[in-house]
Amino acid sequence: MNFQLTEEQRLLKQTVRDIAQKEIKPRAAEVEASGEFPWANMRALARAGVVGLTIPVEFEGQGGTLFDAVLALDEVAQACYVTAMALLGEIGVQSQVIAHYASPAQKERILPRVARGEWMLAICMTEPDHGSDVGSLRTNAVRDGDHYVVSGRKMLISRADVAEVFVTYTRFDGVPGHKGVGAMLIDRGTPGLEVTERYATLGGEYLFGVAFEGCRVPADHVLVKEDGFKKMMSAFNGQRCLNAAITLGQAQAAFDEALRYAQDRKQFGQPIASFQGLQWMLADMAIELDAARLLIYRAAANATSGFPSVVEAAMAKTFSNEMAIRVTNQALQIFGGYGYLKAFPVERYLRGARFGAVGGGTPQIQRNLIAARLLGRRSAVRGE
Ligand SMILES: Cc1cc2nc3c(=O)[nH]c(=O)nc-3n(C[C@H](O)[C@H](O)[C@H](O)COP(=O)(O)OP(=O)(O)OC[C@H]3O[C@@H](n4cnc5c(N)ncnc54)[C@H](O)[C@@H]3O)c2cc1C
Repeated sequence: MNFQLTEEQRLLKQTVRDIAQKEIKPRAAEVEASGEFPWANMRALARAGVVGLTIPVEFEGQGGTLFDAVLALDEVAQACYVTAMALLGEIGVQSQVIAHYASPAQKERILPRVARGEWMLAICMTEPDHGSDVGSLRTNAVRDGDHYVVSGRKMLISRADVAEVFVTYTRFDGVPGHKGVGAMLIDRGTPGLEVTERYATLGGEYLFGVAFEGCRVPADHVLVKEDGFKKMMSAFNGQRCLNAAITLGQAQAAFDEALRYAQDRKQFGQPIASFQGLQWMLADMAIELDAARLLIYRAAANATSGFPSVVEAAMAKTFSNEMAIRVTNQALQIFGGYGYLKAFPVERYLRGARFGAVGGGTPQIQRNLIAARLLGRRSAVRGE
């Protein structure tokens, strides 16, 4: 077992760090305040090959691994949460399921444009009445000649304002239970597809409601039908590692700020870092950060074909999500009253860290998955 990054991994991390720290971080507060999709940051990342990092080389990507994506997202998240969430769509599960399951024509049509940073992707899984219980979703696709007619509603969808392609989980022909669930690609501009709501969030990005009303989708746009739910949820384990990497980045950035501040800020005639109460706080934060990073690295390094094991991904996500809430909160505490001000960056990291434990499968659901494996039970979430 080797705990060192390879030379290529170090180079990738440094390349992304340079862009993130020099170009993206200085704009982070402005990007959040604008409420706009961070196009300029995404273009900078696309130019450096980061947007197409995990897209196969034959489709103009870099052919990178899930581990590479973890390294990149951690760095981008340390600079700007909103940009990390924008990048998650292209570097994550959407492009992976297209690369694995789409027809050759669809891969050729979509992936190069994503790699170039021209097309964004959305994933539409959550519904108004089915969040954690995704296997019960109601959106339905009915075959009609060489098309499917799709109807349903999705909720809490990232990037629906800018996405060109919506990777949509849908039931096929009304077949009940997990067996009936698969996924298809639905293009922006398809008659009947409408972005219905726009919600401001704690972290600063926007989430959307999406309606499909009698959308006619060519049969060639079906991603998976047979074993569709299992395949989509296996791919989603990669997204859990990436979600964890974003919360790790929030915690790391907050910790770095707090470590600096504790050495600069003086009270009672000495730096506050000289007080043992704060030293132990900093030591605990450093332990937690390392533990989360190692769990995420393990899950990503063990991934086969980009898809990690359900248990390793669930452990990494749960620990990193909850760690980030604790660590960013402690960082704010070290800043005292100044931590509470928007003029200082730690409150932004605290808000950014909070998304992980509610998005992409909650820690409660991850614990259910881990326990199901421990106890040899079937998992309702994965349809096994
Ligand atoms: C920032 C962000 C971005 C998102 N982006 C997307 C996206 O792009 N696409 C998409 O499809 N969705 C997206 N989501 C939605 C997200 O995946 C859901 O919020 C999540 O799956 C939880 O579903 P829910 O909100 O309906 O909560 P619910 O499922 O209603 O859960 C409510 C509470 O009950 C708990 N709970 C539920 N079932 C159980 C159980 N069996 N055992 C124990 N506890 C349980 C949950 O842990 C939670 O605490 C996003 C969410 C956020 C916050």
